This record gives sequence, C-alpha cells and structure tokens, in this order.
Amino acid sequence: MTDLKSMLPKEIEEYLVNIGEKPFRAKQIFRWISSGEREIDNMTDLSVALREKLKADCFITEAKIVSKLVSKIDGTVKYLFELADGEKIETVFMRYKYGNTVCVSTQAGCRMGCTFCASPLNGFRRNLTPAEILEQIMAAMRDTGERVKGVVLMGIGEPLDNYDNVLRFLELVHHPDGLNISHRHISLSTCGLVDKIDRLADEHLQITLSVSLHAPNDDIRRATMPVARKYPYETLIDACKRYTEKTSRRISFEYALISGVNDSDENAHQLGRTLSGMLCHVNLIPVNEVKERGYKKSTRQQVARFTEILNSYKINTTVRRKLGGDINASCGQLRAEHREE
Ligand code: SAH
Repeated sequence: MTDLKSMLPKEIEEYLVNIGEKPFRAKQIFRWISSGEREIDNMTDLSVALREKLKADCFITEAKIVSKLVSKIDGTVKYLFELADGEKIETVFMRYKYGNTVCVSTQAGCRMGCTFCASPLNGFRRNLTPAEILEQIMAAMRDTGERVKGVVLMGIGEPLDNYDNVLRFLELVHHPDGLNISHRHISLSTCGLVDKIDRLADEHLQITLSVSLHAPNDDIRRATMPVARKYPYETLIDACKRYTEKTSRRISFEYALISGVNDSDENAHQLGRTLSGMLCHVNLIPVNEVKERGYKKSTRQQVARFTEILNSYKINTTVRRKLGGDINASCGQLRAEHREE
C-alpha cells in the first residue's frame, strides 16, 4: 500500500505518472491531505475513476484520539493517539503568546534509557513514519480548530534515532502547499547521537537544535544517560561546536535539575566553564518527578543559584516555564499510565 501522507508533491507526481495519471493532480492530492482530509472519496476535484484507483492502492495515515486531557491552568492539551497498528503515542498542544506549538513524538517508545525519563518505561516498539509525525499536528489542529505556528520534536522517542523519517517530516511540514510551518519555528531535541548531529549539520536546516545535556561532566552523564557510554561528554560538546560553526545556529542545551545529582554549585561552575564562549543557550528544567524514577527536583533557591552561576560565565540561561502541570503533560507519562490501566 502507498502511504500518501508521507510523500512530497514530486513523489506523488511520479506515482501518478506510473499509474497512467496526469502529474498535475499531485498538487491537488497534496493539498487535500495537508488540509487534514482522510477520505479519498472526499477529494471531489478528482475523477471518480482516479479516486477508485487511489483507494485500491493508497492509504492516508490517521491518528485517533484515545484520550485527551485539557489543562485548567493554561489550556495545554495532551493527546494519547492510536495508530493504525494499535501503537499509542503522545502529543501535546501548547498555547504560547507568539502562537500555538505542538510537541510531537518521533517513535513509539524509546531505546535511549535515560534514568529520569518516563518514555522508556514501556520499552521501544518502532519508529514512526513521516506521516505519523505529521498527522499528530494535523489531528491536534482538527481537534482544536486552531492553527499551529511551531513544532517541537520533544515528545516520546529520539528523533535522530529515526533520522530519515524525521528529515522527511521536516521537508513535508514546511512545504508551502502543506502545513507551511517555518523551520525557524521548529526545534529538534536529541539526547546526543554525535554521528547524527554531524550529519544534521551538513543538512544546513534553519531549525533549532536542542541537546539534552543534563550533566556537567561525563561521570554524572553516564549515571543518568546510557547514551553517554557510546558518545563521551567531550565528543558531544565538540560535535555541538562543529554544529554551531557549520550552521551559525545557536544550540539550546536542556538541563533537568535533579536534587543532589547534578545541581550543586560546583556542577554549575563546571558547566559554566565547559560552555563558556559557545554560541548557546541553557534551558534549566526542575526535573519532573516521575513516580517510577524516584528523583527529586531541585529547590527554588538552588535553581536560582544555578542560574546565577551560569550567568556569571555570560551564558544565556532561562528556567523553563512549565505548561500543563495539572495534566502530566511531560514525556511518556500518559502512555506509561495507559499501560498500567
Ligand atoms: N530523545 C530526545 C527527545 C525527547 S525531548 C532527547 O532526549 O532530547 C524531551 C526532553 O525532556 C529531553 O530533554 C529529556 O531529557 C527531558 N526529560 C525527560 N524526562 C524528564 C523529566 N523527568 N524531567 C525533566 N525533563 C525530562
């Protein structure tokens, strides 16, 4: 079966030519799909004969809402979607002043195994297709009836562990005949797959790269992030430097503050020395206390202290504002709960 939603207009064109149809129909089909249409029968500007041919050979990926939580605090919406094969994924719709942003998952489950994160709790199932990543945005738009300005690849899964599908998604999502979402409003977060960061640098995209650092040195990083055993701390920092040199884009480092693990003054100084002079930004996040994990978030005073120390190294630092605090809006939590039920 042909996955229409994963195809770029030029690929739909080739496909149409192969089945003896006119190539200009591709643009019509792409626009229908981008409008969120899921039924080939509803593509009324295509001939009935073409619609029948498409129906026999193609499908349009759909994400069905299994559950939905709406935050009473800030209107954040968290979805649990079901895919065609029954896999469940999470997506979060957030309302910011500059526009709505959707946080998408890139895999069903995750194989990175970070010790503070809820995503790996159910194990790794499979990569998502480009259409399944795109459809999370479309499904959220259909449900809320609102437009989406930005996308963050910060849901379940490691985007760079599903490299080709994620790259194709990035191409689809900013297509002018499609959702037309600017790469400048897209952030991709990685736990630090060094070879893939280098590959991404060569694509010269205008997206923002976020790196989940969460530690000031190799020992602490290895204790919480198994990926650090494969890619040591220094090799990751070097890859980030190469990335900023090649793309001239500022990297955003994510740092979840865990009480007694990575939040001491000394940890802040070490991080400050490491990042000093880099084209970067540090985003501090008091760790989300996932019940299976047992970590405690840093105190408010320690978060302020950490920020102050980083600032003394002239490192641009912000503390992440938490959205959807009443609906467990953070990664993996909903999927993990669904399994328990
Ligand atoms: N696999 C990618 C994409 C996930 S993004 C990555 O690791 O970057 C989700 C972000 O939330 C990552 O920065 C992740 O490290 C962070 N995160 C996971 N669990 C968390 C928790 N309990 N508290 C705070 N941040 C967490």
